[in-house]
Amino acid sequence: MTQSVSNPPLDVAKIRADFPVLQTRTPSGQPLIYLDNAASTQHPNCVLDAMNTCYREYYSNVHRGIHALSEASTEAYEKARQQVADFLCATSTHEVIFTAGTTAAINTVARTWGDQNLSAGDVILLLISEHHANIVPWHQLAERTGCKVEFISLDDDYLITDDAVASALQNHQPKLFAFGAASNTLGTEYPVQRWTTMAHDAGATVLIDAAQAAPHAPIDVTQWDADFLVFSGHKVCGPTGIGVLWGREDLLDQMPPFLGGGGMIQTVTTEGFTTHALPEKFEAGTPPIVEAIGLGAAVEYLQSIGLENIHQHERALGAKADAGLRDIDGVRVIGPTPEHKGGINSFTVEGIHAHDVSQFLDSRGVAVRAGHHCTMPLHHALNVTATSRASCYLYNTMEEVDVFLQAVADVRNRFA
Ligand code: PLP
Repeated sequence: MTQSVSNPPLDVAKIRADFPVLQTRTPSGQPLIYLDNAASTQHPNCVLDAMNTCYREYYSNVHRGIHALSEASTEAYEKARQQVADFLCATSTHEVIFTAGTTAAINTVARTWGDQNLSAGDVILLLISEHHANIVPWHQLAERTGCKVEFISLDDDYLITDDAVASALQNHQPKLFAFGAASNTLGTEYPVQRWTTMAHDAGATVLIDAAQAAPHAPIDVTQWDADFLVFSGHKVCGPTGIGVLWGREDLLDQMPPFLGGGGMIQTVTTEGFTTHALPEKFEAGTPPIVEAIGLGAAVEYLQSIGLENIHQHERALGAKADAGLRDIDGVRVIGPTPEHKGGINSFTVEGIHAHDVSQFLDSRGVAVRAGHHCTMPLHHALNVTATSRASCYLYNTMEEVDVFLQAVADVRNRFA
């Protein structure tokens, strides 16, 4: 996640005009300040239009029909695969599998590569900051195979050092190192390429959960030398119901299919079946056609703005929010200092439950998330039950961060 300083700043006013929902007001009559982007992002007109046009003008099932609409839908669906391959700097569209999301993609790897390659005593290494989507499928695999799941802890600065990773790799000799490129709770951006190299040197296969990285900074699966990388459409301004499993072609080739049904087969007889080549092998049933087209439009939109530009903008917003929160008496930022993170800030307010904080912010038009953010092991390790989380994206402004900070200061004064 390198950033270039020579990029022009974002034209946020122009970007905001692309997002219809940002022109609306909340039920309380306030202008919407949407800071819940780590949960899900909003949609620009180009995504809505691409999906609408498909439904209105050329929608049909893909790959199966010899008629004009089916050919048009197939062409648009496969174009989306190319757009995603370009977004990831993948060398082949065969490596891009459409799934229902990050969760579905990780489960696919666990149920195929995992079942095939792990057995009793083998270790899967994770970070304590993982989202449940990158924990539970491995617990399930452990239940099936007897393999073990181990976690790397945070240090006192909420960080995980290279030394901690190196010693965990050495101590556990994992078969798989599966880690989030960026934490959805702490906001930390981890050194993906470096850790991937270290893991490979230790003989581990690497799965990168890029759900919180893909929206915010350039990804290059080739340069990162990843084995698997996954992300969700709805966090990159695309629709729900679509995500991506990218995998190295030789690995995907060796893996058995996950779901069985139409689309993934070459032949079916009364005795059995043979599988289709990649990527169809992993896309059983009617795929999320229109969602894929929306995702293609979304990643093209982000690329037209520039992922480096987006990253810089979010880091500036995140740093401002971090500094402002630390200045408010009784507020604790749950995460490292800004040089280690992007636009996510989780925090607690002494004496006030995170749900009450969020409700008060909502009355000011500020949408943030409260709870454990699907990182219960992390919250447990930090001895906090719930946090509030403000997460910025390309369409947020410094003025919105000011309103957010004032609202947090007011909630503290009002209820503490
Ligand atoms: N991994 C991380 C880091 C996430 O932040 C999320 C969602 O918040 C997921 C995985 C799961 O994504 P989805 O619910 O889209 O499958």
